[in-house]
Amino acid sequence: MSLLRFKMVDAAINHTAAEVKIPVGRPSDYFGAKVFGRDAMRKYLDKSTFNALVNTMENGTPLPFDIADSVAAGMRQWALEHGADHYTHWFQPLTGGTAEKHDAFAEPDNCGGVLEAFSGKLLVQQEPDASSFPNGGIRNTFEARGYSAWDPASPAFIVDTTLCIPTVFIAYTGEALDYKVPLLRSLTAVDKAATEVCHYFDKNVEKVYSYLGWEQEYFLVDESLWAIRPDLVLTGRTLMGHESAKNQQLEDHYFGAIPTRVMSFMKELEYECLLLGIPVKTRHNEVAPNQFELAPVYEEANLANDHNQLLMTIMDKIARRHRFRVLLHEKPFKGINGSGKHNNWSLGTDTGVNLLGPGKTASENLQFITFLVNVVSAVYKHNGLLKASIMSATNAHRLGANEAPPAIISTFLGSQVSAVLDKLAASKGDDAIRFDAKNVFKMSGISHIPTLLLDNTDRNRTSPFAFTGNRFEFRAVGSSDNCAEAMITLNTAVADELTHFKQAVDAKIEAGAKKEKAIYEVLKKMIKECRAVRFDGNGYSDEWKAEAAKRGLDCETSTPLVFDRYLDKESLRMFGQMGVYTRVELEARTEVKWETYTKKIQIEGRVLGDLAMNHIVPIASKYEALLLDKVYKLQQIPELKSTADIALIKKIQDHTTAIQRLTDEMTEARKKANRIEDQREKAVAYHDTVAVFFDEIRHHIDKLEEIVDDQIWPLPKYRELLFIR
Ligand code: ADP
Ligand code: MG
Repeated sequence: MSLLRFKMVDAAINHTAAEVKIPVGRPSDYFGAKVFGRDAMRKYLDKSTFNALVNTMENGTPLPFDIADSVAAGMRQWALEHGADHYTHWFQPLTGGTAEKHDAFAEPDNCGGVLEAFSGKLLVQQEPDASSFPNGGIRNTFEARGYSAWDPASPAFIVDTTLCIPTVFIAYTGEALDYKVPLLRSLTAVDKAATEVCHYFDKNVEKVYSYLGWEQEYFLVDESLWAIRPDLVLTGRTLMGHESAKNQQLEDHYFGAIPTRVMSFMKELEYECLLLGIPVKTRHNEVAPNQFELAPVYEEANLANDHNQLLMTIMDKIARRHRFRVLLHEKPFKGINGSGKHNNWSLGTDTGVNLLGPGKTASENLQFITFLVNVVSAVYKHNGLLKASIMSATNAHRLGANEAPPAIISTFLGSQVSAVLDKLAASKGDDAIRFDAKNVFKMSGISHIPTLLLDNTDRNRTSPFAFTGNRFEFRAVGSSDNCAEAMITLNTAVADELTHFKQAVDAKIEAGAKKEKAIYEVLKKMIKECRAVRFDGNGYSDEWKAEAAKRGLDCETSTPLVFDRYLDKESLRMFGQMGVYTRVELEARTEVKWETYTKKIQIEGRVLGDLAMNHIVPIASKYEALLLDKVYKLQQIPELKSTADIALIKKIQDHTTAIQRLTDEMTEARKKANRIEDQREKAVAYHDTVAVFFDEIRHHIDKLEEIVDDQIWPLPKYRELLFIR
């Protein structure tokens, strides 16, 4: 082991668990203590201000401007009493992650002192100097105005000593520059379309909410080892590293005992989450060594998404306190599982009904089947687009590898639900449906749906979009993604589908059909049309890839080409009609996606080239020189043989020569790609001509790792990185 490596491994072993100061008491005592939620609002706002704000939060009515000052005064008071000294508009630009610029409450009072100021205007709207956020050309820097505006639906909170106000981020000309604006628009679209469809079943429904329960997977690595792996530091993944003899093959990590140091990290993280009102619930070891998962209870999608963004930020901060680094990259290590985010998604009414959960009566079940079929149909029509919504340079490593959902979007419904749909689709004429005394819809042969579906426990871990009894689980989302991207597309597609569904049913009713029969007939047609997207088999298998192509599902795997789906005629129409994205916004966003893709590959290429040429080749050459010296000396003594050493030298020669040649070629390819102006073409060039070198170069480096003297190998090896002691 090299001296530096030795020191770092030694440090990693000797880090003791950091002390965690969690007050004695129950989580219910401190849950949401750092959130300006209902309790704080009640205490710090007068009655009319409170009512106006609640009305805005619940019904989306604009907050009257004169109320904003009173809200700000109460919020300021609360924040100061809770130790805040700064405030910030907290938003989610297209860089991924969150952005914040802190301003102090303290301001000169013009009498030689300072006072803590915070007006309604500062709360509601700001103009961050945000010219360098990605905007896909929407905002030229010479008119670099972007506005952040408060989203009262998501409560303000305090991190460290800063009051964070969740905001949207828009261009001067009104286009969205963030994830929140389109997410809110998509939630409005699905609310409107779903509420109208609910009225077939229950006139009392006034609002439909979209719910999100994310499960966040992540890796932890020891900070001292992380620090001497430039690839981890700069790209978030290991660009090289020979497999550890033992990794996940014994399956002894999944749900195993959590190491003490990790446990104290988790405890502190959970405590922070609870203070911030994030209802964390589940923690466990994941499949790969050093891989873990955290999941809260589901919430309304906008809030849930803010909470996931917040979690990713605080995770990183807390990990450092425990001398870890969190890796949110989808594939930090080759040969073992990568990380994803499972987005559990459902729709529910303000009357308390889960529209994706089977009900107790036949009518409730027709409603359930209606929503289920609309979702499946939406996923079928937009399977390529949904893939685009979760595709990235980093998630591409995971999709299609034999451990994660494939790069083909299909849906798994389980045998029971599948049987119900197939039966419904196959039923002929009117005899298949009956109406009972209360005019409630019944289907012959499947009147037992109510009880049967309740214990739908089928599981298929290989499906990217699985029905799990009362929700769909979108599993192809990347661990570092902003969940909103997938949720925007899904909600919009479902809203669009429900709108078409309603038009079709209404047309039949107008033509004289009974409501239930009209619904039934439209569903029947839809079930037949979207059959291709339903797949209950093994999504990892090669047969499925061939079969999916035959079925006409989108099988594209090249990341830059997958992004094209955003600009398909059908996508433009759908996003436009549902009021979620304009053409300009979609063009800008795909531009950003291509640009981000290029930059990520460019950085990886540079880091790989640097490491290959200034770490690996020199070290291998040093060892080679030692061997050469040995051979030279051996040859002075006729009784001794040097063939094995010569063979080893040859191997080293072969690998180092290949690394040098390939690195040169990769650099040339990069130079050539850099000359391309068009962002899409450039991304394609990076994908087709630059990224292709990565695995090849790595192969030779990993081979060298196996044969070069461990005493001089500079980078921590997988076996050192992957097992927290
Ligand atoms: P598993 O690992 O078995 O998929 P978990 O318990 O880890 O399940 O996570 C399930 C997630 O799904 C949790 O966040 C949970 O709150 C969420 N969830 C449960 N019911 C719903 C629902 N109706 N809508 C959305 N999310 C849900
Ligand atoms: Mg899950």
